[in-house]
Amino acid sequence: MSTQRHSALQDLLMVEGKKVKHYSGKRVTEIFGSHVFGEQSMRTYLSDEAYKSLSASIKAGQKIERKIADQVASGMKAWAERMGATHFTHWFQPLTGSTAEKHDSFFTIKSDGTAIEVFDGDALIQQEPDASSFPNGGIRATFEARGYTAWDPSSPAFIIETGYGKTLCIPTIFIAYNGESLDYKAPLLKSIDALDKAAVDVCHYFDKNVSKVAATLGWEQEYFVIDEKMANARPDVVMCGRTLVGHAPAKGQQLEDHYFGTIPERVFEFMQDFEQEAYKLGIPLRTRHNEVAPGQFECAPIYEEANIAVDHNSMLMDLMAKVAKRHQLQCLLHEKPFDGVNGSGKHNNWSLSTDTGVNLLSPGKTPRTNLMFLTFFVNTIKAVHDNADLMRAAIASAGNDHRLGANEAPPAIISVYIGKHLTEVLDAVESRVKEKFNEQDEVILKLDIHKQIPELLLDNTDRNRTSPFAFTGNKFEFRAVGSEANCASPMVVMNTIMADTLKQFKSDVDDLIKGGDKKEIAIMQVLRRYISESKKIRFEGDNYSEAWEQEAAKRGLSNMKTTPEALRAYETKGAKELFTNNSIYTERELGARVEIMLEDYVKKIQIEARMLGYIASNHILPATVNYQNTLIKSVKGMMEIGLDKKTFKAQIDTIETINKHIQVIKEKVEEMIEARKKANKLENTHKVADAYCNDVKPYFDTIRYHVDKLELIVDDKLWPLPKYREMLFLR
Ligand code: ADP
Ligand code: MG
Repeated sequence: MSTQRHSALQDLLMVEGKKVKHYSGKRVTEIFGSHVFGEQSMRTYLSDEAYKSLSASIKAGQKIERKIADQVASGMKAWAERMGATHFTHWFQPLTGSTAEKHDSFFTIKSDGTAIEVFDGDALIQQEPDASSFPNGGIRATFEARGYTAWDPSSPAFIIETGYGKTLCIPTIFIAYNGESLDYKAPLLKSIDALDKAAVDVCHYFDKNVSKVAATLGWEQEYFVIDEKMANARPDVVMCGRTLVGHAPAKGQQLEDHYFGTIPERVFEFMQDFEQEAYKLGIPLRTRHNEVAPGQFECAPIYEEANIAVDHNSMLMDLMAKVAKRHQLQCLLHEKPFDGVNGSGKHNNWSLSTDTGVNLLSPGKTPRTNLMFLTFFVNTIKAVHDNADLMRAAIASAGNDHRLGANEAPPAIISVYIGKHLTEVLDAVESRVKEKFNEQDEVILKLDIHKQIPELLLDNTDRNRTSPFAFTGNKFEFRAVGSEANCASPMVVMNTIMADTLKQFKSDVDDLIKGGDKKEIAIMQVLRRYISESKKIRFEGDNYSEAWEQEAAKRGLSNMKTTPEALRAYETKGAKELFTNNSIYTERELGARVEIMLEDYVKKIQIEARMLGYIASNHILPATVNYQNTLIKSVKGMMEIGLDKKTFKAQIDTIETINKHIQVIKEKVEEMIEARKKANKLENTHKVADAYCNDVKPYFDTIRYHVDKLELIVDDKLWPLPKYREMLFLR
């Protein structure tokens, strides 16, 4: 009997790793950004006027005049055609979680019938994709189903290659006819703006030369790679991006021999291939290595300004999926493709950088810069403390629940790790009484952070890997983000809560100054209060431990294990005020977003439930019954030749065990279908999501348990689905 599994296994023996012609013999610097309409191409293809105007618009967010837009469009077209592009597209990031493009040709026919190639300012600035089927959370009624994509000049245009075709991609935001945002990018840009303003104001206490503060982001992308034919032989992987059944292999990650080990050659070729494509697009990839689980890997770029970094991460996720196919591999970005081994995350390293070249979260070298560092450092902790539930909501998804809710890195409890040395610094500040602060105060003058930098680094290299939000020397690392997520969600929350906290900080400090305090004293006073008010969010111990769950509960920290629960944080009065006051979302936009996220959650669980039912009934049970028949035949035969029953007790026991599993699976699949029907009838999305979470999803574990038991019993030759060991260890 030949199943898809068996032919995949056969083929695997024959796969010849695809060799990649690396960089056509060029250095990375020679190809880096070659497919990007960046600084160099702008200078070559734009008039001085257009170049200056575009640069100013990128730097200061100034509006671009129509006349200039025409010039930019024509320069961009000339460049793109030179590169071999025939089409252009507005590229955007709708709330479906993938990127979207609709290609238009440069080519058109004039009224006199002659064919020409055009691309003008109008086409550059705005498009109206037929976008009525993108999720909008009820914002757009169908009669007004117009959505517009609008050029975002802050992110450079680029060219993607698909086979031999080349397309000019113009990064855009996606908004409804009335300006309401329908994508990830629009709110991100607003949050970057809000943070810029609030941070510049606070910087002016220390340095009047600062005129811009940018949020920076360096993401670390984890992913799994498996053979494509194996993936295709698993309906769950095809439809859900993860396995819904499968017994853990005899060897998992317990030997820890995969982590940082030699990268398997076939995967290595794949990595080099997507890296090469990424470099052309200006994505500054820097590191690659194996991750903890077998078949799991990671890559990370050099950090960039958050809006560019978000685009680059989205582009890279697309690229990885596409390039994997060339190598007959499948790249799994899902947070939990395999049970029993680690899932995948996407650490978001976040910091703030000024246009004077200062990283605000890097300890300074002088008392003044130290105080500036301390200010931004403490404000971050305060922001996370006051908005921990929103941080949890920002990373909520059906996939990520497998990591956060389960006993896997990191837990659903948001806490901040800062290391031993900075804890001492904060304790020292906190212990001061007001009278003790004076201009010459040793705490201000001798925060001593800079002198102890070696110690600080030491402290942080040996850092706490279990923390969801850790200070790592010159940035905070938000580790709880899911591997498949668009980084914009956590970044919008991070930027907004920081902007809001900094605004509050400024107003608190100004009040004290008005009351007669010297600036430094006022700052220290407010910092001291913030340190003490936000103390309970700081945790230096093992975040995976049972003890921490109990301790966190005592401290009153939330521990929301599921998405439907976590998303409620967006609907509180405080959240609505936060987002509207900082002009990130209107209440309607926020409501629509929650609706979309809940719908997404429901759809994912619904698809998984259907697939699990299907796999159990149409793959597992038939194969099992098949095997059972073989046993029955053998038992009958032995009875026929008159053997004593005792001699084939094992066969009979197995038949009975199999029967028990079959009964439970059948019963549970039916119950699960009923639970789904009930859930679907509920009237609002919150209730539907709750029902899917609490009444449907629990069946997954039960059904899986019995299927996985059968995998250990049924004849290997008859088992229809590629097994974990085959997917994770064979190359
Ligand atoms: P790891 O966390 O694996 O030890 P690193 O600390 O070297 O690795 O860096 C992880 C990521 O953090 C990289 O993408 C890096 O570019 C990014 N990063 C470093 N400095 C900053 C910063 N100031 N702002 C944002 N990201 C940063
Ligand atoms: Mg890291």
